[in-house]
Amino acid sequence: MPQPTSTPADIERAIRNVPDFPQPGIQFKDITPVLADARLFSGAIDLLADGFKPGSVDAVVGIDARGFIFAAAAATKLQAGFVPVRKKGKLPYRTIEQDYALEYGHATVAMHVDALKPGARVLLIDDLLATGGTSAAAAALMQKLNANILEIAFLIELKFLNGRDKLKGHPVRSIIVY
Ligand code: AMP
Repeated sequence: MPQPTSTPADIERAIRNVPDFPQPGIQFKDITPVLADARLFSGAIDLLADGFKPGSVDAVVGIDARGFIFAAAAATKLQAGFVPVRKKGKLPYRTIEQDYALEYGHATVAMHVDALKPGARVLLIDDLLATGGTSAAAAALMQKLNANILEIAFLIELKFLNGRDKLKGHPVRSIIVY
């Protein structure tokens, strides 16, 4: 596999922190400057796909919406398919669904019933691990379809929110940790 074209430190320098978005108290990690820079974007994909050879993964699952960008690019690099996990009500065909708790209330994510074959070797990729609710719900959908989750990878992890606690039993890797 070629060497990554940029380091985690290079990528971290480009991530823009936006205080109080979308609500007071949230430090939003804006990854659009990473996407806009060809070297950083491809470096981020190299790092997310690191450790996997083309052909060793059947599908990369990405989470609505920023996760799609990274998961789809990693899928083409690994010569794997791409599978979306979407918010409830967006996918056109028959779905399986998973509820998860938010700070206030709950949310539901969905995946097509036939998106993954039993035993499929899959990676789950999202832009950011915060409390872990979203990615744990996505992993639960993948398990409902009896997929083999090889790894869950994030560009960014907010470690102080202990999201990894919700992903126990899965290999979890993040490129940049705050
Ligand atoms: P969680 O379910 O708490 O792990 O939240 C993860 C999802 O929310 C990810 O898909 C992120 O895109 C988004 N998210 C949560 N916190 C932030 C943050 N501080 N900056 C940017 N995105 C965030």
